[in-house]
Order: sequence, then structure tokens, then C-alpha cells
Amino acid sequence: MKIGIVGLGLIGGSLALDFKAAGHWVLGIARRGATCEQAIAHQIVDQAVTDLKSAAIADVIFICTPIAAIGATLDQLRPYLRPTTVVSDVGSVKGALVAAATERWPNFVGGHPMAGKAEAGLDVAEAGLFRDRPYVLTPVSQTPPEAVTQLKHLITEALHARIYECDPSDHDRAVAWISHLPVMVSSGLIQACLEEPDPAVLTLAQAIASSGFCDTSRVGGGAPELGLMMAQFNRLELRRSLYAYRQQVDILLQIIDQEDWSALGNYLKASQAARPQFLQP
Ligand code: NAP
Repeated sequence: MKIGIVGLGLIGGSLALDFKAAGHWVLGIARRGATCEQAIAHQIVDQAVTDLKSAAIADVIFICTPIAAIGATLDQLRPYLRPTTVVSDVGSVKGALVAAATERWPNFVGGHPMAGKAEAGLDVAEAGLFRDRPYVLTPVSQTPPEAVTQLKHLITEALHARIYECDPSDHDRAVAWISHLPVMVSSGLIQACLEEPDPAVLTLAQAIASSGFCDTSRVGGGAPELGLMMAQFNRLELRRSLYAYRQQVDILLQIIDQEDWSALGNYLKASQAARPQFLQP
């Protein structure tokens, strides 16, 4: 199959590596010539161009640009697509985007691979990034079933990812809880630590921070553009989850103020028991 990847960064580059390894012919489309040269030099794609016209050759196209550029990219691509071309995206928010994209291109299937890294760019693209990870597809009632089947086949065979299908709005609510809220909470944790008024204590805390702080601060210390996009494009769901989190902070404060250690023990026990349900193999 001929696959086009528009936007050769972490996700686009990682998809290209796996599709190529699975025997597909991969065309990379980037804004900058330097990205094309890098993609060819590292054998990430079979061909790389800066011109969207070349997309005419592809059977399936993945738009892997930042969320804010996905709609405009689809508009620019449209004149060059064959009616049978399946277009998908990898954006972390789906609601409004999928509705608008489906109106512009009926053969559009929204997608979101649930794998990533704190760093961005083609330099950190990685083969096997999506293996055994969830990959969410968000078809709507107008989406042609053949387009969904074709994508599912590709994702399972070449990426070895686990497919989940859901409504775009359910996707956005779910990712608010497990991806967007954690970024904000983790960022808030780092900022809260910086509130330490004694510089010597702050320096001590920074020196002795170890695996626990590393785990809990990781997503808050990632690329700011990603968190910004989450908040801008999933604002309502993120707000809902942040309010729920604030309520939990209030509950914890109340328990601790009252020195109700039995209530705190039960709270922590319930969290410990619930965590594995979010980390299913
Ligand atoms: P990235 O590494 O920064 O890659 C995005 C690439 O798109 C850049 O390398 C850039 O390449 C190109 N680009 C930037 N602005 C553009 C524009 N205005 N028009 C066209 N191309 C543009 O970012 P990423 O992490 O791969 O994220 C890409 C998409 O994947 C986003 O929609 C994000 O929501 C989604 N996603 C990210 C993760 C994650 O953890 N990072 C996980 C799942 C899904 P050139 O400058 O060379 O053109």
C-alpha cells in the first residue's frame, strides 16, 4: 500500500518507520526541506517532499501535524486526493475536528495513537512506539465502513497496536481524565514545589528528588505546546476534570486537617485498588 504522512515529527516519523518496516511504500510530506533530507538520510520514508501535490499517489494519508494545523492541512490536501483516498489524523483531541474534517472529506476517519514522549520532532521518532499500545479510532455515522476496516487492518498489522473505537466526544472526555488532567496536575505539582520560600530548602528538595518525583512530574515537564493544545482544544472536558480534581484536593485537606487517619487510610487504599484498572496490560 502507498501511505502518505504529512508532518514528520515524533508521531509522523514513528508511523513512517513502522509502515516502511511492514513493507508499505511511505511518502513523507514536511514543510521544510531539511526535514525531508533527514527523513531520507535515516531511511524513515521512501520519498520525502515539501509539496502536498505528491499526496495524489497515496492510498491512505495520515495527517500528523500539530492539532491546530490539521484542518488547514486537510483543506490544502483536498484538491490532490483521489475520491478513494482514506485520510486519518493523529490529533490528541477529536470532537470538533472530526466533524469538520468529515464534512470536508467523507473518507476521513479520526484517529489517536495513545503513545508518545516528552520530546518532540523527527529526531526522537522511534520504531515500535505503538506496539501493544491503544490506538483509538473515532468514526461517525457518515464514515464509510470500508475506510475504517482498511485503517484497522493497517494499524493492527503494521503497528501492532490495540484498536478501540468510540465516539469523538467520548474520546475527548476520556483523554481529559487520563492524559490532559495529568499534564495539568503534574505541571501544578512542579509549580507548587517552587513555592517553597526558603531557597536552601528548595535546593535540598531539588537535590534529593528521586524516582517518585520523576514519575509524577514527567508529563508536567513535557513540551509546553502539547499541554497548550490540550487546553485550547479540549477546554470544557479539561475544566470538568480539573474541578473534579480540585474537589479531591479539598477532601484530602479536610481529612488531614481533622487528623482522620482512618479516613485517609481508606482513601489511599481505594486509590491503590483502583489504579490497576487504568493500567490494563
Ligand atoms: P512534533 O514532533 O512537533 O511533530 C509535528 C510536525 O509537524 C513537526 O515536526 C513539523 O515538521 C510539522 N508541523 C509543525 N507545524 C506545522 C504546520 N503548521 N503545518 C504543517 N506541518 C507542521 O509533534 P508530535 O508529537 O509528533 O505531534 C503531532 C500530532 O500528534 C499532534 O496532533 C498531537 O496531538 C498528536 N499526538 C502527539 C502525541 C505525543 O505524545 N507527542 C501522542 C499522540 C498524538 P516541520 O517543521 O519539519 O514541517
